[in-house]
Amino acid sequence: MVQETEITFQLFASGYCTANAKIIDPTSALKSSRFYAVWALLKHPSLGLVLFDCGYNELFQKETQSFPEILYRWATPAHIPKEQTAKYLLEEKGIKPEDIHYIIVSHFHADHVCALRDFPNAQFICNQSSLDEYRSVSGFSALKKGIIKKLIPPDFESRVIVLQNISTSYVDVNSGLLFHRFFDQDVFELIELPGHAKGMQGIKVNLSDKKIVYATDAAWSKEAFNKGILPMKIVKLFFDSWKAYKNTFTALKKYEANHPDYTVLFTHCPETLQLIENNV
Ligand SMILES: [Zn+2]
Repeated sequence: MVQETEITFQLFASGYCTANAKIIDPTSALKSSRFYAVWALLKHPSLGLVLFDCGYNELFQKETQSFPEILYRWATPAHIPKEQTAKYLLEEKGIKPEDIHYIIVSHFHADHVCALRDFPNAQFICNQSSLDEYRSVSGFSALKKGIIKKLIPPDFESRVIVLQNISTSYVDVNSGLLFHRFFDQDVFELIELPGHAKGMQGIKVNLSDKKIVYATDAAWSKEAFNKGILPMKIVKLFFDSWKAYKNTFTALKKYEANHPDYTVLFTHCPETLQLIENNV
């Protein structure tokens, strides 16, 4: 019997980019908002040390100096202090980059995968459809999908694991959300959250003292989510599917209503950062 004390889930933030606040919430009075690059460290006796995403690192500035990648930097200017990178924050906790066994990739947008190269022994758990899209794009077509291939480790293909090959799935009947149980454990489940990016996934954490649905970019602000406010429609330009996004948004709200014991969190939301700063 595994002791639950050996299992933990902790959120961190590695830098942020800025964007117009009205994109997040068209009713906002603010001019600009920070999009924090949040990721999580999972500890599990059979999985070992696992990251869920890994935030920005210094590679973002290095790989966005020339066209076409510089467009990405112009669209989302990023602030990335070295002491906020995943590698640095983990080393502060006594965790070496070599000790990370897996990195679960929520989706391939640069602010979620920038630091993948810092973890030489990690295998990457990806959803089949996000992987298919990643493999099918390059250069400018990749950039239009928010993907900078230069950030991805050169040996990525030999280290990737397709989630669907290591998981069993079920649909939550009330919300219609699709969940994946992976590697025969039932504390962490991945949730398909289509719309923002192809094959995007979040994670459900079921610990006795911590019940979280970390819904990545299915919304950008908990406040807007609570009010049912969708982002500005200009996001259609880079979202995978606006229709799927709206369906996921509604499904998540249903799930939250049916599971009041779970806290729904989003990657780029100030409330998530507040939890990190308060060490929750
Ligand atoms: Zn994204």
